[in-house]
Amino acid sequence: MKFPYLKEAVKSLFSKPSTENFPKEVKEAPEGYRGKIVFHPDKCVNCGMCIRVCAPGAITRTIEKVEDGDKVTFQFYLGQCTFCQLCQDFCPRKAIELTKEYLMIAENEEDLMVRGTFIKKAPPKPPVPPVQPKPVAQNDQPKEENK
Ligand code: SF4
Ligand code: SF4
Repeated sequence: MKFPYLKEAVKSLFSKPSTENFPKEVKEAPEGYRGKIVFHPDKCVNCGMCIRVCAPGAITRTIEKVEDGDKVTFQFYLGQCTFCQLCQDFCPRKAIELTKEYLMIAENEEDLMVRGTFIKKAPPKPPVPPVQPKPVAQNDQPKEENK
């Protein structure tokens, strides 16, 4: 009686598994991997370019008036994102970064939201020019009465 796989089975008993020991050992993603988005609100200038290039509409922005300017909030919904990286490539301030993070386990929509808020200060108001006294027209001069 022949056991064609016996040699292979015995060998496998004493060798390491060929599968990865995940999640005990989490491997780093390769260079250039496009994973979870990180937004740096301190670098953003609110130009809106990222919103324009995002085909699936995964980026939204809300603007709220506050005392010293606008409170701007950017929201990236990773459930809608295709990780194309266009937003990162087109951002003139490098405010968006696609990281190597690939573990994005979500229990609800909120777990897939990346947000960042900053205050865009209103430009200083130009000084109000002093009010010039209105020139008095010649005809408006009080006429001397003939005595
Ligand atoms: S990676 Fe692509 S799909 Fe995702 S937010 Fe950026 S532009 Fe949109
Ligand atoms: S492209 Fe960059 S700087 Fe412009 S709004 Fe988007 S994140 Fe901000």
